[in-house]
Amino acid sequence: MNTDSFALRHIGPRRSDLSEMLKTVGVDSMEQLIFETVPDDIRLQKELNLDPALSEHEYLEHINELAAKNKVFKTYIGLGYNQSISPPVIQRNILENPGWYTAYTPYQAEIAQGRLEALLNFQTMVIDLTGMELANASLLDEATAAAEAMALLFAVRERDQKKNNVVKFFVSEEVLPQTLSLLQTRSQPLGIELVVGNHETFDFSSEFFGMILQYPGKTGRVYNYKEFIAKAKDAQIKVAVAADILSLVKLESPGNFGVDVVVGTTQRFGIPLGYGGPHAAFFATKDEYKRSIPGRIIGVTKDTDGNRALRMALQTREQHIKRDKATSNICTAQVLLAVMAGMYAVYHGPRGLEDIATKLHNKAVTLADSLENLGYFQANETYFDTIAIKTEASKIKAIAEANEVNFYYPDDATVSISLNETTTLKDINRIVRIFAEAAQKEASEITELLIGNKIPKEVNRKTDFLTNEVFNSYHSETELMRYIKKLERKDLSLNHSMISLGSCTMKLNAAAEMLPLSDPQWGNMHPFVPVAQAEGYQLMLRKLEQQLTEITGFAGTSLQPNSGAQGEYAGLMVIRAYHESRGDAHRNICLIPSSAHGTNPASAVMAGMKVVVTKATVEGNIDVDDLREKAALHKDNLACLMVTYPSTHGVYESAIKEVTSLIHENGGQVYMDGANMNAQVALTNPGAIGADVCHLNLHKTFAIPHGGGGPGVGPICVAKQLVPFLPTNPVIETGGENAISAISAAPWGSSLVCLISYAYITMLGVDGLKKSTQYAILNANYIKERLSGHFDVLYTGERGRAAHEMIVDCRPFKENGIEVTDIAKRLMDYGFHAPTVSFPVAGTLMIEPTESESKAELDRFCDAMISIRKEIDASEKDNANNVLKNSPHTLTMVTSDTWEFPYSRQEAAFPLAYVSENKFWPTVRRVDDAFGDRNLICSCEPIEAYMETNA
Ligand SMILES: *Cc1c(COP(=O)(O)O)cnc(C)c1O
Repeated sequence: MNTDSFALRHIGPRRSDLSEMLKTVGVDSMEQLIFETVPDDIRLQKELNLDPALSEHEYLEHINELAAKNKVFKTYIGLGYNQSISPPVIQRNILENPGWYTAYTPYQAEIAQGRLEALLNFQTMVIDLTGMELANASLLDEATAAAEAMALLFAVRERDQKKNNVVKFFVSEEVLPQTLSLLQTRSQPLGIELVVGNHETFDFSSEFFGMILQYPGKTGRVYNYKEFIAKAKDAQIKVAVAADILSLVKLESPGNFGVDVVVGTTQRFGIPLGYGGPHAAFFATKDEYKRSIPGRIIGVTKDTDGNRALRMALQTREQHIKRDKATSNICTAQVLLAVMAGMYAVYHGPRGLEDIATKLHNKAVTLADSLENLGYFQANETYFDTIAIKTEASKIKAIAEANEVNFYYPDDATVSISLNETTTLKDINRIVRIFAEAAQKEASEITELLIGNKIPKEVNRKTDFLTNEVFNSYHSETELMRYIKKLERKDLSLNHSMISLGSCTMKLNAAAEMLPLSDPQWGNMHPFVPVAQAEGYQLMLRKLEQQLTEITGFAGTSLQPNSGAQGEYAGLMVIRAYHESRGDAHRNICLIPSSAHGTNPASAVMAGMKVVVTKATVEGNIDVDDLREKAALHKDNLACLMVTYPSTHGVYESAIKEVTSLIHENGGQVYMDGANMNAQVALTNPGAIGADVCHLNLHKTFAIPHGGGGPGVGPICVAKQLVPFLPTNPVIETGGENAISAISAAPWGSSLVCLISYAYITMLGVDGLKKSTQYAILNANYIKERLSGHFDVLYTGERGRAAHEMIVDCRPFKENGIEVTDIAKRLMDYGFHAPTVSFPVAGTLMIEPTESESKAELDRFCDAMISIRKEIDASEKDNANNVLKNSPHTLTMVTSDTWEFPYSRQEAAFPLAYVSENKFWPTVRRVDDAFGDRNLICSCEPIEAYMETNA
């Protein structure tokens, strides 16, 4: 046995389990199983060309060598990214804690009350600082949040604006460059016309539906927008503001000026820069737009006993329900980062934040004063943390870089300096010395901060914020550590048991993959530093691009998209640009099978395409005849097909090559949704099935943890003809030679977590990757066989095999009055998170075990399912008082002095022997979704509510 092999740690079943598992499945060898599962004509003919696998120890040495190649300068570039201090208590107990980072999006609210509370804190913090009525639980980054704001304002245009087709959207020239680039990308397919200019000379006589302003502006100036916004309102122009979250501690909330949307990033609330991400953006708006707000919203409701409980609110707004009627495709967001940013506010409280913001402002005042004393002209009359020095930029740049300092140089005659929470007196003195050297003067040493106020009087903040108890209770480390633990204990994560969510691939997130994330050599790198300073990052990102290109069988990769859905959008925009380049701009029909994930049609609509849905056969496969008919019917305007492979039904459709060539014959491109890539890696690939572009979910197949609903990375890999169109960035050049504008704010998206996937591929190598796919298929088929006779599996391949996941039919149990939800909730009593509920078929469970689960864990899960099947058989349609309907059972119920249920406490809470060894207690009973949606509350209750209960 090679104890050095990472594959040995990553893959669950032991060699000694193999023969029994194969026997259960009914094959002689792994090769036979794969032969019976993956169609012959798409199997890879030659091995992938990847480097030999490194052991964990070798990898960590290698990655530390790369880290040393990053030159981490003192960086004052700003532009929406500012170094901050991650409180170690948050780093250790959340970022480095699998109890937090391995959780899934809180769909099963009863076992997710911890992160739901943390997200409610985040929303409350955003609501307080922005002065808005409602906030969501994070978006991908500030630039995409701004684009979502534009889309929302477009969707909620006044009736006469819609009638008169008012399509103009004003963008202040003070908006960040990456935000502008994204607005350009997003506006085009929607038919929105952008007008960029100076808000001070804005022409109110022209018709606009909306506008966006930056607060403070990208130059650092703090404008008093009050009157301007009032005038916009009079002209029926809706207003979005992109705001700096820390500045809002000192500045009056945009909400108080009557704006419609406020967006921004919470990166500077304790989140590492990470060469661009991941960071949580925020989106806050008015109550009247609650049904149009993108992303998830956490809301308060009650459980069966009337106790307070949290859950995701208003889910009917989301893309998975609205499909091609959706105005946003956001699915995975930035939950882990939102949890951390919210916790930063809990840790510091209002007075702590006030202190940080005030000190920061005084640092800028002190620096400006010293530079003025040296004879420099500081151009910002008002500012929060960013000053602008008018001087020969190239001269300063040379001296600064020699001193390992980065500033931002918007033009030849300006040096922009954004200070941050980490800036010390020593740092300020270093900056002053740089300017003194350029002026050939002596700098005098600064020994203390000046106190000043360069914020216009009218916009100095007067409203309170973070008055809730939660922001005023946990300021010692002991208290915060215990609060974080208290929340963590309410949530079921991978460190408790298997999470077999079909389509989500909840595999191991290995510690060795995660360790480098804590290294400041990776964490403290600003995304807009000169590329030469980021050599370690560049080497790692290049290599990861090559690895993914090889694995998908394509010609190029862009790591920019921050989620799978954003990858879909990026891929479709690339297809659009390709058609345009060939004079085929009219090609706008996107064929999508009916079983597709909701993000597919939502992304297609955002990319300006028209969705035509194609049918499935009763076996769950693509109805090739229907597809052929529709492709031919639309051949003049066919843009593409979006297809998931293996299908969302968990089947390797053998007609896939016929399907892809059919599309090509009719002039279309083939987009493959790569969510199920875990069933392909090293056995087949999108290139082999004839696709042209796919996105990968690195947070599914390539081991980035789900983080409770983000971060994600959704790179797109493309065939040769599409490489020239891969997206660029307005500050740091990247992408193809004919690049589309930005898809996300940072040039390489969420670079920091790309380290995880790089580690995963580098440590597994070709053999380990192939084995992982094989074991993912074996584990799924093992479950299928063990459940056979107890549950029906809906679809299988031609030889009767499942792919890496399977759909279990729960609809027949309606005869006993049991719904699929009852099974999902009852699994909690057995210590398991439910598989995916009702996707892609209503009334079913989709089970995906992944390769990381051991035989013992698969057996426990199967035992639980079989035991539940017996409980179903014992249930009666007209008697809802049974162990399934009453599930999950809480500790409070089971230890209560009264017990009025027709089954024992033992049966309720410890239905199988293994449960008592490792009991997980849901902390609330079944949550009431409808009640919460009728009485929408999306922030922590005001302090008075606590006073009432205390009284
Ligand atoms: C997860 C998933 C997506 C969306 O990915 P996100 O990263 O959540 O945006 C799209 N399609 C399928 C089939 C998926 O399973």
